[in-house]
Amino acid sequence: MESKTLFNEETEPPGSLTGAIGLENHPQKSFSRFNPLYNHSTRTPHADRPVILGRPVRMASPFKDSPKSRDFRKRFFPEITYAVWHDWRWQLRNRIGDAHTLARIIRLSENERHAMIHHAKHLPVAITPYYASLLDENDVFQPLRRTVVPVNDECIRTHGEADDPLGEEHDSPTPGIVHRYPDRVLFLVTGFCSTYCRYCTRSRMVGGRGKHRFDIDQWEKGIAYIASNPNVRDVLLSGGDPLTLADEKLAWLLARLRKIHHVEIIRIGTKVPVVMPQRITPGLVHTLRRYHPLLMSIHVTHPDELTPEMSQACIRLADAGIPLGSQTVLLAGINDNIETMKRLVRGLLRIRVKPYYLYQCDPIPGSSHFRTPVAKGLEIIRGLHGHTTGYAVPTYAIDAPGGGGKIPLLPEYVVGRDGGDLLLNNYQGKSYRYPDCNC
Ligand code: SF4
Repeated sequence: MESKTLFNEETEPPGSLTGAIGLENHPQKSFSRFNPLYNHSTRTPHADRPVILGRPVRMASPFKDSPKSRDFRKRFFPEITYAVWHDWRWQLRNRIGDAHTLARIIRLSENERHAMIHHAKHLPVAITPYYASLLDENDVFQPLRRTVVPVNDECIRTHGEADDPLGEEHDSPTPGIVHRYPDRVLFLVTGFCSTYCRYCTRSRMVGGRGKHRFDIDQWEKGIAYIASNPNVRDVLLSGGDPLTLADEKLAWLLARLRKIHHVEIIRIGTKVPVVMPQRITPGLVHTLRRYHPLLMSIHVTHPDELTPEMSQACIRLADAGIPLGSQTVLLAGINDNIETMKRLVRGLLRIRVKPYYLYQCDPIPGSSHFRTPVAKGLEIIRGLHGHTTGYAVPTYAIDAPGGGGKIPLLPEYVVGRDGGDLLLNNYQGKSYRYPDCNC
């Protein structure tokens, strides 16, 4: 079922009643009765029909479960129906964020438990029930588990780490806007994510941290800045995760940006299709496709995230004509080997997502256990080039500390010159010559 436009998005601001249904504004406890993992003793007669602001929530459209998440739902949320499980608002309301609740799902190690209780204030813990269904109950080294469950290493600060390693605040002419490159801006529209990644570059400002407010005043200032800079032809919406905003808020923002003639393309950076694929409803897709050309960069970390649910979400977006690219952070012990990365990039292409960037992990405080040597990234790229289609090979880049921007890195394929010939090594390490006629 397509969503109806509930109001005039060009005139009504997102702080209005209709715009206010974005669940980021509602505390989790208001829905705790729908989460069997929390203490509750009563059920309403219609426990599978949650109500927000006095109105029944429209149920999600059919979305196929994977056997893994179905078994998980039956085991840990036995009272929750298929329809409620697939309602993204239910997923948001019931995010797991404390050690007691998480310990009922996975066997927390002492290290994890201690970190959750004592250090999570540095970056909150939040895991959607869907993403929790992908975590290994016993293996503390499981890649997906390591990306969302904190450990004490997050408290170790090492040389070169900084709260704002990319110097974004320095390039911010108005709160929420980062203007670093000549023709494009980063527009940070929310500090909220459905699931928090432990290596988040913007851990200084997501999850209610930092000085940013992300309210209508800040949005208006950001829009005014973009409108007054005719060289800005490309706007990247990020945060936090823009797809946690309600459809109406997103539509309002996109409509305002589309009215600026020099804005040619709009991009959205998101992890939602990975951690809460239920959010990719027909209504959202209908909203997004009205603002083409619109592109999306999806933050994917590991091939185990490429579930049937995530695939359906990506295919819905691709069918709406949205070009999809992936952004992956290279993480020690998680995806830092050629075989894992090969499985990831090939799997992404199968669901119509072009592997776009592989980022060296940014040196945020407490990230040393996640960072790999740059040589590891180069080894992975060498293991992909020529061994799989070029469509599947992302650009490996370091976002230069201090605000230098993205710097692409390539293994050495040019090994020298011999007179007018360029000496090259191919993907198998064999040597070749190219007559470089301009020398
Ligand atoms: S989804 Fe993005 S913004 Fe949110 S915690 Fe993860 S890396 Fe940070």
